[in-house]
Amino acid sequence: MAASFANTQVSGKTATRQAVASRVAPFRAVTGARRVAGAQTSWLFAGQTVPQRLFAVSGARSVSRAVQTVFAVRDGASLEGRKLRVAVIGGGPSGACAAESLAKGGVETYLIERKLDNCKPCGGAIPICMVEEFDLPLEIIDRKVTKMKMISPSNREVDVGKTLSETEWIGMCRREVFDDFLRKRAQKLGANVLNGLFMRSEQQGENGPFTIYYNSYEDGSKMGTPATIEVDMIIGADGANSRIAKEIDAGEYDYAIAFQERIRIPDDKMKYYENLAEMYVGDDVSPDFYGWVFPKYDHVAVGTGTVVNKTAIKQYQQATRDRAKVKTEGGKIIRVEAHPIPEHPRPRRCKGRVALVGDAAGYVTKCSGEGIYFAAKSGRMCAEAIVEASSNGTKMVGEEAIRNYLDKWDRKYWATYKVLDILQKVFYRSNPAREAFVELCEDSYVQKMTFDSYLYKTVVPGNPLDDVKLLVRTVGSLIRSNALRSADSKSVNVSFGSKANDQRVATV
Ligand SMILES: Cc1cc2nc3c(=O)[nH]c(=O)nc-3n(C[C@H](O)[C@H](O)[C@H](O)COP(=O)(O)OP(=O)(O)OC[C@H]3O[C@@H](n4cnc5c(N)ncnc54)[C@H](O)[C@@H]3O)c2cc1C
Repeated sequence: MAASFANTQVSGKTATRQAVASRVAPFRAVTGARRVAGAQTSWLFAGQTVPQRLFAVSGARSVSRAVQTVFAVRDGASLEGRKLRVAVIGGGPSGACAAESLAKGGVETYLIERKLDNCKPCGGAIPICMVEEFDLPLEIIDRKVTKMKMISPSNREVDVGKTLSETEWIGMCRREVFDDFLRKRAQKLGANVLNGLFMRSEQQGENGPFTIYYNSYEDGSKMGTPATIEVDMIIGADGANSRIAKEIDAGEYDYAIAFQERIRIPDDKMKYYENLAEMYVGDDVSPDFYGWVFPKYDHVAVGTGTVVNKTAIKQYQQATRDRAKVKTEGGKIIRVEAHPIPEHPRPRRCKGRVALVGDAAGYVTKCSGEGIYFAAKSGRMCAEAIVEASSNGTKMVGEEAIRNYLDKWDRKYWATYKVLDILQKVFYRSNPAREAFVELCEDSYVQKMTFDSYLYKTVVPGNPLDDVKLLVRTVGSLIRSNALRSADSKSVNVSFGSKANDQRVATV
């Protein structure tokens, strides 16, 4: 079927063709688009009927030149003879889940990922609700954590998994496996997965399509070959260092730097961490976050993060390692990684037909540093808003649809982000406050409320009487922590990797 855009509406007027010389682009044959699902339809293209895939993706060896005849389409107008085309930049959880929902909803979807075997630096912890909500197979979950230890600055250990039932756990994944699964599922549903590095985009007029410039690695080369595709909308799912966010001038945000070492430890030590995760708090491991030891497939991930003193991150990492020293002794570091974690949503998360999701939008929670679920969820919510507004890809949509997603998102999660922000400010500000925090974690009611809201992502209404008791206990712990504060300032400071710290570790 040949579909011309001759009757496409432009700014309310009929059929304004925009064959612009500047849109002359080198077109390569289909070899540059190996992963592109075969398209059956064809479009009228520079006076000729060419396969749709040639129009949509360029990047091959024999370079031919063609004038692209592109047409602006106003929001809400029907797309005759073709589907809405959306490029998702970045194939992590946010991008892969966005691509899945778009493809499922009938939108022509292009998912561009620079590294298909990307092993994103990440603890890989996911809440149990994600398994059902995102229909995840258990094979991609390496470990089920059922026990968690909170460890205070004075090395007081509190077990915080006591209220979990036998069927409740926190999943531990390897991101290379997890992300790969999500991308392949999106691909099976019809998304075109392109292995390439997004460079920049250019919109052709207010209602016009975007040309995406990227370096295609489809031919297996490391350097890649320049290629382009044209799309109606863009979803920026390209992580904390998002280029799409820069393009739409989304504004800066504070970020934490997270450092993580993957350590292969002897079998007997690994047995200890089989289904156990540890969280360390204290000035030594981070002035504003926590250090962690998470069990992974065949090793543990030991890491920490900070916003306020990024240059000292290696010292904090050393201190985290020191604190877990006895339990990880004899271990061998197999990988060292660092990555930014956004601290709050970007000032701007959409502009026209461009939306941000996941880390690119800044959706990691404070206090816990959780981002995988929120990335996947935001990708899905954004895509669903586009599918709905476009009537399954048959109409052009724009900022209104994206704003719809943002409004729903903010209504659903604003309180979660706020509460975790306050908790971080109150309890991570000093060692006495951290001691109070760990003390509170001993309480079964606190554990139940915390785990329920983490595992199920719903704010579970508590028992009013227990809530009052909890408030009294919280105030009591904080008053005690404040009283201890002055005493603490006179106490010996444990410096990183120092003998004092070694002694303290030895007492664990
Ligand atoms: C050390 C560390 C530990 C963490 N631990 C946890 C944890 O245990 N649990 C948890 O829930 N969260 C954790 N997080 C946060 C979590 O990793 C992120 O919130 C989550 O990965 C966000 O997903 P995303 O899809 O938005 O972005 P990302 O996972 O960052 O994915 C972005 C993708 O875009 C690709 N990309 C980037 N630029 C381009 C480009 N120009 N062209 C093409 N592709 C591009 C990247 O290759 C990547 O695959 C941790 C973060 C760090 C740094």
